[in-house]
Amino acid sequence: PYTGPSTEEILMKRQQFLNPAVFHFFDKPLNLVDGKMQYLYDDKGRRYLDAFGGIATVGCGHCHPHVVDAIVNQSKRLQHSTILYLNHAIAQFAEALASKFPGDLKVVFFTNSGTEANELALMMARLYTGCNDVISVRNGYHGNAPGTMGATAQSSYKFNVVQTGVHHAQNPDQYRGIFGSDGLKYARDVDEIITYGTSGRVAGFIAEAIQGVGGILELAPAYLPAVYSSIRKAGGLCIADEVQSGFARTGDHFWGFEAHGVVPDIVTMAKGIGNGIPLGAVVTTPDIAKVLTATNYFNTFGGNPVCSAAGLAVLQVIEKENLQQNALDVGSYLKNQLTSLKDKHEIIGDVRGRGMMLAVELVKDRELKTPAKAETFQAMDQMKDMGLLIGKGGFFGNVFRITPPLCFNKEDADFLVDVMDYTLSKM
Ligand code: PMP
Repeated sequence: PYTGPSTEEILMKRQQFLNPAVFHFFDKPLNLVDGKMQYLYDDKGRRYLDAFGGIATVGCGHCHPHVVDAIVNQSKRLQHSTILYLNHAIAQFAEALASKFPGDLKVVFFTNSGTEANELALMMARLYTGCNDVISVRNGYHGNAPGTMGATAQSSYKFNVVQTGVHHAQNPDQYRGIFGSDGLKYARDVDEIITYGTSGRVAGFIAEAIQGVGGILELAPAYLPAVYSSIRKAGGLCIADEVQSGFARTGDHFWGFEAHGVVPDIVTMAKGIGNGIPLGAVVTTPDIAKVLTATNYFNTFGGNPVCSAAGLAVLQVIEKENLQQNALDVGSYLKNQLTSLKDKHEIIGDVRGRGMMLAVELVKDRELKTPAKAETFQAMDQMKDMGLLIGKGGFFGNVFRITPPLCFNKEDADFLVDVMDYTLSKM
């Protein structure tokens, strides 16, 4: 049993000593002390089904024994920086990771987070092209350092500091966007930005295949191929931010961009890559990678032995336990069940996503799509009390985000749907 400080004590210390901007879900935040695969346990030993942590920390399951063993064994042997000396862990992991990519995407740079990965990707695109202008998609999230905050396009994640060189294109949002699911019409906005907002040459384009923080929004079909073609005509590089949608989560493919039939020039990743260990990566072509040899470039801890051992173990688990297939099977099953809830509950405006990256958007009026923000918060709190943890997001904060560890099974899916059904019936 847990014998550490109480929830109240932790809250007090947090208020006194930690970042005052940090937020937590729920009126009475949970004090989590243990995790096992898709389950989390609080200080009282109460079990919760985790239908959100899959992205925030874990792809293959909380404290997956194979990943834990890899971390422990490498920690006992050696932990060090990635520069100056050789170590097998980083080389083996880089090879295994590169094997997951199509074409010439074969050079890996490791970082400690998604923000760092996107900062590096944006810098490489700018160096490679000699241009500064970048285009990103409205409602996207790419990180919280100066470059990535510039590429992020949601006011709730921006500070009013200098953010140069990024133009934000129309979001090809199939639910609220002005052109519905017509990806080609949204792509024209990128052409117009290039024509009217730049010299005609750009550094690149960055987008998530499915906007995560933005509310699990899949880019409209036909959008990415058209945009990639326009960007390349303008001399730019195409960056795919796979921080949330990568590592088998979408089920039908290993990477989110693959569903759009495109091959990016640079791919960034983090979160699920290390099952909760601080790790990120940028993968690109040898030609683009060369720009960083113009001077010295290094990252002291990016891809250190312990993190690399964890990353390699994650790839092994995804393969051995067939987690991509599971994401497809259980994810499709869950999406069907959630879609049938829509017939029952007027408050559900939209059910969307693919694999284990799903969303349920709550609205007060299906025609007007008025966000049901307070109801979303209230329902989440009630579901927590019934032992189910899901996420929240979207620009208006009215979207349930469902991104469980990839070991989520059909019984878990049924439990989730029953709890959501019951909670929405009570509203
Ligand atoms: N890109 C995407 C798509 C993200 O969702 C996030 C984090 N929410 C980031 C980048 C930034 O990652 P990190 O928080 O690890 O810096």
